Amino acid sequence: MNTLPHIKIVLVNTSHPGNIGGTARAMKNMGLSRLALVNPVEFPSGVAVGRAASALDVLEQAEVVNTLGEAIADCALVIGSSARSRSLPWPMLTPEQSAAKLVKESRSAQVALVFGREDSGLNNEELQLCHFHVQIPASPEYSSLNLAAAVMVLCYEIRRAVLRDDEADDKAEDEYWDQERATVEQVEYFYEHLERVLVEIDFHDPDNPRQLMQRMRRLFGRVRIDAMEMNILRGVLTNIEHKIKGRRD
Ligand code: SAH
Repeated sequence: MNTLPHIKIVLVNTSHPGNIGGTARAMKNMGLSRLALVNPVEFPSGVAVGRAASALDVLEQAEVVNTLGEAIADCALVIGSSARSRSLPWPMLTPEQSAAKLVKESRSAQVALVFGREDSGLNNEELQLCHFHVQIPASPEYSSLNLAAAVMVLCYEIRRAVLRDDEADDKAEDEYWDQERATVEQVEYFYEHLERVLVEIDFHDPDNPRQLMQRMRRLFGRVRIDAMEMNILRGVLTNIEHKIKGRRD
């Protein structure tokens, strides 16, 4: 069975190179090959090479970037893994649902599964860049898994989803949609534009933001907007700006 080139595993700001090597190994075991490292503390590293064993190719091909935004810019679906739920509740998936979604959407777009720091996980801003969150239902007494172990559990679910081979059903569902999903990068431009216009029309006060933009993110993330819909909304915002400007001139 070939590897899944459109599924990217992203590790954010990993401290221990052993976890990077362990991740590469878990990925290759489960048929994955695209690894992105966001600002790793120690990389390249002999320890990572040792832990990767025969998955050295995955390590060598890993993409190293500075921010999570860069790592997922080309992705249409991003799922963030987290051991605990955060202040603003976000759409949650089980490991099984996450894997099914990633495998299905990877047939027509780039998708990503994101993991956080060993000590503090993903911060709120990073979690809010994700469309969904996934939690491994570990024991409530100690629910935080070792990073590479968490990668293994979720990559195994991806493997199971591939082996279930429900491609026929998924294809029918995909064919029904006429447009591609918007990528993270396109949607990020939209959020910037939206925020600017909301400030312009005095709906949004950047000095007292409350959770407005986070709620907007959650809303549009849930809808999973397509590229054409995104263009329409950008056009609406541009016209609002023109009108405001026209009135002022
Ligand atoms: N103390 C941190 C745990 C970090 S563990 C926290 O509370 O967030 C390092 C990473 O492994 C996490 O960021 C997450 O990506 C993954 N991870 C660990 N346990 C997990 C679990 N039960 N469910 C989902 N992801 C988990």
